[in-house]
Amino acid sequence: MIRYEEMMKGVLVVISGPSGTGKGTICSRLSRENSKLYNAISLTTRPPRQGEEDGVSYFFSSEEDFRRLILEDALLEWAHVYGHYYGTLCEQVEEKLALGFDVILEIDTQGAEQVRRREKEAIFIFLLPPSMEELWARIQGRGTDSQAAIRERFAAARREIEEACKYDYVVINEDVVETTKAVEAIILAEKCRAERNQNMIRRLKEGEKG
Ligand code: ADP
Ligand code: 5GP
Repeated sequence: MIRYEEMMKGVLVVISGPSGTGKGTICSRLSRENSKLYNAISLTTRPPRQGEEDGVSYFFSSEEDFRRLILEDALLEWAHVYGHYYGTLCEQVEEKLALGFDVILEIDTQGAEQVRRREKEAIFIFLLPPSMEELWARIQGRGTDSQAAIRERFAAARREIEEACKYDYVVINEDVVETTKAVEAIILAEKCRAERNQNMIRRLKEGEKG
């Protein structure tokens, strides 16, 4: 458990990894266990899956509205993934960071590249499956996608894994509890970096006696 109230500014964390690796599972646990951690809700033009509610897993949007938001520069990043648009609303991220939340973006590698260019202080974590066999089993086992969608996602996995070296950290999602701990540890270590805590150091120095 990260003691967020004692730390300084919120940080922006990007989590990517092939479909089925467990990004959603890990991000839900992280926000459940850390009250000052917020999972950004992406905008997508893909139709809702069974059980998905608008404004919870995603904001579901028309292509027309999505394109308008691109033109208005309202998206921090966006990408066309598996035939649909996905993007992150700037306003949502800025608002939560300003309130002191750590904000997690669960986005694909193309979106991560855009955030890398725009947000120099963001932290990039790539989640890997323990093996390709396990990845296949997880995509199948989730039971939310058609066979064609499963094949498409699995085929994209190798290409996505090639991008892992561009990230600051890679975490193998073997066990959900251990993976959550590892991601928490990364966030905590990053929040303790001296360069992120210059204001606090200055304040303490100025308050020094003698
Ligand atoms: P992603 O968001 O990366 O597409 P999900 O979080 O939807 O992946 O996970 C895909 C499936 O794998 C789900 O059924 C989930 O319960 C399962 N899963 C996630 N992490 C693990 C793990 N460490 N061990 C076993 N199954 C897992
Ligand atoms: P799914 O349709 O399975 O929910 O998501 C498909 C892919 O879209 C995943 O790789 C996921 O990380 C990515 N994705 C979800 N939201 C966003 C987003 O806001 N931006 C980008 N670039 N990718 C996203």
